[in-house]
Amino acid sequence: MIKVTPLPIIEHNGNYAWIIEHAGKVTVVDPGDAQPIINHLREQDLDLDYILVTHKHWDHVNGILDMKNAFPNAVVYGTGHADIPGLDHPILGGEPLELMGLSWKTWHTPGHTLDHIVFYTETTNPEGESQGHIFSGDNIFACGCGRMFEGTADQYYESLQSIVNLPLDTIIYCTHEYTLANIQFALHVEPNNTYILHRQDVCTDLRDKGKPTLPTTVVEELKSNPFVRCDQPDVVRAAEQASGQVLAKPQDVFAVIRDMKDRF
Ligand SMILES: [Zn+2]
Repeated sequence: MIKVTPLPIIEHNGNYAWIIEHAGKVTVVDPGDAQPIINHLREQDLDLDYILVTHKHWDHVNGILDMKNAFPNAVVYGTGHADIPGLDHPILGGEPLELMGLSWKTWHTPGHTLDHIVFYTETTNPEGESQGHIFSGDNIFACGCGRMFEGTADQYYESLQSIVNLPLDTIIYCTHEYTLANIQFALHVEPNNTYILHRQDVCTDLRDKGKPTLPTTVVEELKSNPFVRCDQPDVVRAAEQASGQVLAKPQDVFAVIRDMKDRF
């Protein structure tokens, strides 16, 4: 069985580092700050085998060297499109990996940054069915997506599609607890989407109890995330009203709603 735990780090920034346990091995994804992760692993009496890094931003990489000092056996796999501190194995995307007794796929997902990559694996659940898991960094978020710092709208749209084209029940482990703010914007775009209203109730309740709203799943995003609903009539209409233009392609709709969110 795989166990994946969200560990809050850099709380003012809403980051989670994901701790993955499988087959007696331990991995941390995007250690933007080392001390809370070191404390957690020590409390749980866990060693650290691997560090995965999706992209170069400080809140994903600043803890890597201290993690390696605390756990000298830890090996770092991360984007090879940027200068990542402590990187042992640069991954450009497309390289298969065998880690923790699991087979992993990697691919390049430019948009938020140009160096961004994602890590995907499948486990078998107790019913013998396949279960997908994607560690997606700042690419897609629950009901939102990352800021478009470096890529183009076409690149970012394609990267998001590469995630939501995975099986519907794929679990998405993204980095930031931005869900409630993202839902506000999603309702601005689609005020009549009852699934977003339902999701607002569920996530408000979780946050009131101090619990994470993550991970999410592909199907939840397809129902409620405007950035992967750029072909839906209500989303197209909202983007056309905001831009005053007829938008022929979903990539153009994406560009407009990404810009709307920056100003929201
Ligand atoms: Zn980032």
